Amino acid sequence: MILGLGGTLAAQSGPPLDPTLAARIRLVCFDVDGVLTDGGIILGDAGGTRIELKRYDIQDGLAIKMLQQAGILTAIITGRESESVALRAKELAVDEVVQDIQARKVPALRRILERRGLDWSEVAFVGDDLPDIGVLRLVGLPVAVGNASFDAVQAAKLRLQKTGGAGAVREFVELLLRARGDWDTQVERYVASRSEER
Ligand SMILES: [Mg+2]
Repeated sequence: MILGLGGTLAAQSGPPLDPTLAARIRLVCFDVDGVLTDGGIILGDAGGTRIELKRYDIQDGLAIKMLQQAGILTAIITGRESESVALRAKELAVDEVVQDIQARKVPALRRILERRGLDWSEVAFVGDDLPDIGVLRLVGLPVAVGNASFDAVQAAKLRLQKTGGAGAVREFVELLLRARGDWDTQVERYVASRSEER
């Protein structure tokens, strides 16, 4: 069953996310292209050096910081390799980053879980396309962004309304933390932390 923002379908009303399921989540893992970005890449050449640029959403970035503030581990697993992802992950202090050009996301995530002592049921994964389906079928909370392909949506329990690179990550984080009863608390913690003198 696909749960949307408002229940069984995006347009329907009802509880957006099962609080029991939300409370189990200890690691939130994101795909990059089509999830943290709109899927577009800018390729260039500067004096013989290949350059790949991506555009990220600033509110998504803050959402990842809010997850961390709430004590939830964060991960990025992508099937491409680029310095842009490494820079963004470092900027956000993402806990685990895997860039595997063969898109072997299941073994990559399995190694993270073994190292962290986590179970698949404690993981949420946000994806958009075929390389994500393997992990979407295994994790406790599989999530598809609004622009996800048909097959990715079929593998997900939750389909977001917003699209990759345009607020989907922020939408999911708010849904998750609200279902845990923690969003408002974390917002106040954030505001307080930014209201102090250095
Ligand atoms: Mg993708």
